[in-house]
Amino acid sequence: MLDRSFLEWPFFEERHRVLAEKLDAWAAANLAGIDHDDVDTACRHLVAWLGRDGWLKLTAPGDGNERLDVRTLAIVRETLARYSGLADFAFAMQGLGAGPISLFGTDAQRAQWLPKTRGGEAIAAFALSEPASGSDVANIATSARRDGDQYVLDGEKTWISNGGIADFYVVFARTGEAPGARGLSGFIVEGGNPGLSIAERIEVIAPHPLARLRFTDCRVPDNAMLGKSGEGFKIAMATLDVFRTTVGAAALGFARRALAESAKRAISRELFGAPMAELQMVQGHLADMATEIDAAALLVYRAAWAKDEGAARVTREVAMAKLYATEAAQRVIDAAVQLHGGEGVRAGHPVETLYREIRALRIYEGASDVQKVIIARSVLAETVEP
Ligand SMILES: Cc1cc2nc3c(=O)[nH]c(=O)nc-3n(C[C@H](O)[C@H](O)[C@H](O)COP(=O)(O)OP(=O)(O)OC[C@H]3O[C@@H](n4cnc5c(N)ncnc54)[C@H](O)[C@@H]3O)c2cc1C
Repeated sequence: MLDRSFLEWPFFEERHRVLAEKLDAWAAANLAGIDHDDVDTACRHLVAWLGRDGWLKLTAPGDGNERLDVRTLAIVRETLARYSGLADFAFAMQGLGAGPISLFGTDAQRAQWLPKTRGGEAIAAFALSEPASGSDVANIATSARRDGDQYVLDGEKTWISNGGIADFYVVFARTGEAPGARGLSGFIVEGGNPGLSIAERIEVIAPHPLARLRFTDCRVPDNAMLGKSGEGFKIAMATLDVFRTTVGAAALGFARRALAESAKRAISRELFGAPMAELQMVQGHLADMATEIDAAALLVYRAAWAKDEGAARVTREVAMAKLYATEAAQRVIDAAVQLHGGEGVRAGHPVETLYREIRALRIYEGASDVQKVIIARSVLAETVEP
């Protein structure tokens, strides 16, 4: 039985508890036995199902006063990740890809895309990283030059989730208003644009649709620009400030599943004439796992709550949540593999799958080292000399 007591923490409201219960029931009924062999097809189906049953409405606000609620996104990601890494991925990318539009889009851009991403009728992608600029975002080389009432994009983006299956990509390119980060802008590029091609499909240890994109004389109308010219870095960072916490939430979901599998195993597996659970070193593992999970959950939900409540400072809290939750989940899952013995490395076993799923979360949306830099800078900035 999974520990659900965290839902009673003061970060949550009744609507969050109702959501967690409903989604858990939905995930249990719908996410067993997804065929991961063909990830493109599996992802398309997942986006369609998540849209059909209303879950994708949570990835972007609808009309009126609705706004993105980070606690909601975090609960959804944590829940989906416990059942299926690919379902979590499908949900998360609709949010991240549509994020710049929901946060900075014009009414026309929002009306064109958000009903489709919320309904699972359009697949979204967020294209920031390049072969020579992953962590170093300010070094982006893809260019966008103005030509009449169009912008013309040239360059490459890599590691783009949903690359190859997305209906649109939010692409960050250099428009050159100023050097470095202040010379970037965001654009919406449709998947079928003749100037956009898939240079390479990339296979990773936990299969997801992923690609390197090439832009060659890729023309978009000037109203495809998001926000103002030169605001691209701000748009990308503001979007990541919302969604980065939810990477921690996904890690939390993976870790909770690893603990649940380990506790089941400890009770059911006989070793030396008694259940494994009676070995104190096994108990030690379980205790460490449960404690790390709660510490991670506290950081993730504090960051989500701070953002939802409009706290003055969130970047440090978000960085701590992402850093700690992903690193802790790696340790928890590694312990789960250990407790499963040989079964833990059998291809397709849930803890073997988790072992592969967790790794990339410590790298994307800002590697752990980058989160440490963010936290340290904040600490130093707030330190007054004696
Ligand atoms: C599965 C997956 C999905 C992804 N999806 C997307 C996507 O949808 N859209 C997108 O735009 N990108 C995506 N990415 C790219 C991802 O954001 C980058 O891989 C990440 O930002 C790191 O960039 P890099 O790979 O170029 O590594 P590098 O920037 O070369 O960094 C390599 C390592 O150097 C260290 N490092 C970097 N900077 C510092 C620093 N300041 N201080 C100390 N150490 C440092 C870290 O250990 C880091 O892991 C994805 C990546 C993966 C693996």
